[in-house]
Amino acid sequence: MFKIGVLLGDDIGLEVVPEAVKVMKAAAAKAGLEIEWVPLPIGRKGHESHGHSMPDVTVETLKTVDGWLQGPIGHNAYPRNDPTWINPPLRKKFELFANVKPVKSYANLASVHKNVDIVFLRETTEGMQSSSVVLAGSGEFRPNDDISIGMRVVTRRGASRVAKEAFEIARTRKRKKVTAVHKEPVYRLVCGMFAEECRKMAKNYPDVELEEVLVDGFAMKLVMKPQQYDVVVTTNQFGDILTDEGAGLVGGLGLAPGLVVGERQAMAQATHGSAPDIAGKNIANPYAMIMSGQMLFEWLGHRRGDARALDAARRITAAVDKVIAEEKHLTGDLGGKASTTQMGDAIAAAV
Ligand code: ATP
Repeated sequence: MFKIGVLLGDDIGLEVVPEAVKVMKAAAAKAGLEIEWVPLPIGRKGHESHGHSMPDVTVETLKTVDGWLQGPIGHNAYPRNDPTWINPPLRKKFELFANVKPVKSYANLASVHKNVDIVFLRETTEGMQSSSVVLAGSGEFRPNDDISIGMRVVTRRGASRVAKEAFEIARTRKRKKVTAVHKEPVYRLVCGMFAEECRKMAKNYPDVELEEVLVDGFAMKLVMKPQQYDVVVTTNQFGDILTDEGAGLVGGLGLAPGLVVGERQAMAQATHGSAPDIAGKNIANPYAMIMSGQMLFEWLGHRRGDARALDAARRITAAVDKVIAEEKHLTGDLGGKASTTQMGDAIAAAV
């Protein structure tokens, strides 16, 4: 029995998260997987009911769940300089240290390349991102009007745990290969430490191959021949850029799911934002949120050794593949005419 939180978020989150839950419920029922679903207030609705976009009750309850679905937050439209309107910093609060983002092409959907099947892992708690690297103050400063200075942080613990996650994922895949992306010859200490930890971790996984590629060359090879990569692990800022490049290779935001993982919990979160321009019209593509839910089942299945969760995850993948191949229930961005709910219903019916 797993306990899974449901945080709808804002705008199209209110439409795509319920589709993900619908599909996950259908798959769990088929697989005999018991789940306690825990709806929790967040975002605008959280503010309406609890006076805060990240209510205390949500944070407290999330401590007790195995994982959760988080819809996109429409924080760009929140009032500024009001501490009750914040983009909920759940990754930081729950020490979710790696963003796992699959990039997969489909034979019949428009994409730059075919036969692409990559899983990216981007470290999310350190690196260049100033909000990640300091507890108070900022990782950037400007001592005078002509100079700006930014910090980059890599720790052994941070590098080691994201490397471990990459090898664990690679072990579950056919090709069993991890590509560590860095630039050690230039950033000898920070990239050097990241590379060292990847090499050390590789020793624990003799069944998985480790290759190392410098980030600039990787950016080029990814565009030219993405089929050569299986699992790719990298630091925060490189990952920020490369995962968007990856999403662009296979059809963009609507097709970019994600799972943000910690030591004992994971959060399913699509890459796309809350897309206020298309909200409330029942036209948003639910794929990314549904496949983020699939990733949560798969992660729980592997981490907790639960065959039913793995079965539920496999059923969702197969159902999504089928609905995409049939082309009868696809949303407008994928070239179809179906609504968000029609696509969700078709996938739920196919699990
Ligand atoms: P944020 O700053 O919150 O990350 P953003 O400004 O990067 O958001 P998104 O909200 O992700 O942008 O949306 C960018 C555009 O992509 C939207 O205007 C929308 O038209 C399209 N889009 C995003 N997600 C989807 C989806 N699930 N289905 C269809 N179109 C989408």
